[in-house]
Amino acid sequence: MSGRHKDMDDDQAMESTTPRKAPPVHAPMDQFRVDNGELLVGGIPLTRLAARVGRTPFYAYDRGLLATRVAELRAALPPEVKLHYAMKANPMPALVCHMATLVDGIDVASAGELKVALDTGADPHEISFAGPGKQDGELMQAVAAGILVNVESFREIAPLAAASEALGLPARVAVRVNPDFELKSSGMKMGGGPKQFGVDAEQVPELLAEIGRAGLAFEGFHLFAGSQNLRPEAIVEAQRKSFELALRLAEHAPATVKFLNLGGGFGIPYFPGEQRLDLTPIGANLATIVDEARTALPQAGIVIELGRYLVGEAGIYVARVIDRKVSRGHTYLVTDGGLHHHLSASGNFGQVIRKNYPAAIGNRMDAAPGEACSVVGPLCTPLDLLADRMNLADAGPGDLVVIYQSGAYGPSASPQAFLGHPAVIEVVV
Ligand SMILES: *Cc1c(COP(=O)(O)O)cnc(C)c1O
Repeated sequence: MSGRHKDMDDDQAMESTTPRKAPPVHAPMDQFRVDNGELLVGGIPLTRLAARVGRTPFYAYDRGLLATRVAELRAALPPEVKLHYAMKANPMPALVCHMATLVDGIDVASAGELKVALDTGADPHEISFAGPGKQDGELMQAVAAGILVNVESFREIAPLAAASEALGLPARVAVRVNPDFELKSSGMKMGGGPKQFGVDAEQVPELLAEIGRAGLAFEGFHLFAGSQNLRPEAIVEAQRKSFELALRLAEHAPATVKFLNLGGGFGIPYFPGEQRLDLTPIGANLATIVDEARTALPQAGIVIELGRYLVGEAGIYVARVIDRKVSRGHTYLVTDGGLHHHLSASGNFGQVIRKNYPAAIGNRMDAAPGEACSVVGPLCTPLDLLADRMNLADAGPGDLVVIYQSGAYGPSASPQAFLGHPAVIEVVV
């Protein structure tokens, strides 16, 4: 009890000297320019873009912002580090084509993604394929394409050897390692402890021996610890530990290590209080790693693979307000878009606590924030919520709601068939 009273005293003391702490806010979405009250996408005012697309809802990805993001990243990282695009973040073919001109390689996670990656004209040598449960047919396609397979199981060795034999082509492989550490404070952990991804580090020497016996063309290692991390020190630690683990495992390698994928996991700010990742310490750490690799693994190209970080901030989701309803004093903007197109903005794609994505009324960008309102979709479920009690500009039927940070894990990660509304349109502008 006395402790509790002390806290209260402290609070009162604080209040008398310092102003009440402001609630956390969204990072400014200043990657998009505004002109004459309209958000610009690829230089085009939003209402004009909506007219061009022909109907709402739609996703729009800004080509210029995608290029800028890659350029900024390259400027912050040592030139020796290769950048791969993990296309599961956004597999839209026109976008992947654009990304293929900007990055050094593409990471795919299925034969379906492999087709899109090959269709871009990307060099198959720079395409890699990861994922648990690769089927024999997919492994055959991978060997025929000449891409690198990240082996995640002892089971994959025999079908890869059979494909290599049948096609008379090398089966290029790297080993995906399930590390003996986790990526701290990552939104989604994908390494460390028991996992369906990769092969446990302690079993890797045995796997490498089998790869050697089966005559597969061993090229290196792949480590991926997790996703959506906004703490540079956690990413630095994971990359350092991944490098050190790869050095230990390289002693058991059946051939020279030519490829070392240290993962990624770079996050983007989605929620109030989150800030953009500081790349400086990550660049410095990678420079040290590149330096050490020059003597320890002289043939190895260092790769990082990023999905969300490359494409997330360049995309918006646009839905039109159909109705404005007031229910017992609370205002709802009912739109033609919802969780069936944008599951993650509704808070139902792996989030524990629902928080708002940054949002705006894209054709009223100069208007002052109005009363708190909630943006909902047309689905018959209370989960269909795109913004919960946000102070957007006052809006009504016909206005365009914009959800920012929507370039990654959008349509392909949403249950589009749910309730039978039309599929969403995607454009690269
Ligand atoms: C999902 C995934 C990525 C991409 O993660 P992002 O958070 O989008 O950067 C990269 N590599 C692997 C192996 C993945 O499974």
